[in-house]
Amino acid sequence: MSEQTCPFCKTQLDAEATVCHGCQAFQGIGRGGANGTVRQPHEVKAIAILFYTLCGLGVILFVVALSMGGQDSWIGIALAIIGFAGGRFNGWRSENNIQWFRKQ
Ligand SMILES: [Zn+2]
Repeated sequence: MSEQTCPFCKTQLDAEATVCHGCQAFQGIGRGGANGTVRQPHEVKAIAILFYTLCGLGVILFVVALSMGGQDSWIGIALAIIGFAGGRFNGWRSENNIQWFRKQ
């Protein structure tokens, strides 16, 4: 099993650790600082799932609109594209944008 080092106090931590037992720093996604929102990776993953749900709803809306003559089917397409893009973006963030933050 690989290890990681807390960037603040240099404590050795398990690779899976999300909180430093040395200084209580924690892993999260966000800008941090006084005004930034730090989210937990599982929260960002949940946002990704919400977006994918929106994408699925968009597809359903599109199919329904098509079956009713095609009017307003662009709303379904737009929802599906936004949902897919948002899902991909937040899914990517939940895996690749994790940083350590100091407890405030
Ligand atoms: Zn630490």
